Amino acid sequence: MRDLLLHVEEIEDAVEVHCSRERSRAASKIIEEYLIPFIEKHQYQIPKSCRLHPDNDLFRDQEQHKIRIDVDEWKCGYCRKSFYEERYIDKHFEQRHNNLLNVSHGKCLADVCGALHCDHHIGLPQKTKCNPAASARNKHLCESIADSCFPVSRGPTSSRVHEFFLRQFCDAHTCTGKSKPFSRGRKKRMNILYIVISVLTMLLLLFFYTFIYLYQRGVKSGTQNLRRVSQSGRKKKPS
Ligand SMILES: [Zn+2]
Repeated sequence: MRDLLLHVEEIEDAVEVHCSRERSRAASKIIEEYLIPFIEKHQYQIPKSCRLHPDNDLFRDQEQHKIRIDVDEWKCGYCRKSFYEERYIDKHFEQRHNNLLNVSHGKCLADVCGALHCDHHIGLPQKTKCNPAASARNKHLCESIADSCFPVSRGPTSSRVHEFFLRQFCDAHTCTGKSKPFSRGRKKRMNILYIVISVLTMLLLLFFYTFIYLYQRGVKSGTQNLRRVSQSGRKKKPS
């Protein structure tokens, strides 16, 4: 039993040291922005064995418990403690809630960063000299992800997403500089909050203009009535 506990502790330590939270977050954002909208358009289900599946992100649960209250206020969703900066809440997760990391099933999403162009996304300065060996390695990783997540043998939809994935992520792993990462662009997913705010704004505008219109009509008919009253008054005077 003690050995087992020691072993679990060792695994936890290993994950803590070897999986970068920041790079995992970058990979997760890239998947969310540059892949998921296209997958949803094709109504494709990513298999759980795929390294890009959300369940294979070790930090996903913690990231979902990160509540942003304001520009400089973050709240821990587990214990409600507040923080001024994201890096402090990250540290807090590391120190207080790492027991919640699903180490047994979790995988390190940062490991696919090479394939997904995380450095480009984070905005790290690009190396002036392209390394052909590193590019070839990333291309290989990229293509193997495409093969396991969207196997061509799985049917036409899977083939289409496979093709898309190669163009979007894998083509740019070359030193020729011909192809840029995310060449197929990004599509923002429609956020429910965004839709609600838009509808409310439109309704408010509608009410505002209706009010202005009715008000102006009211003023007009009011002056007409006044004119009528004063005209009839003038007509009545001579008699
Ligand atoms: Zn907490």
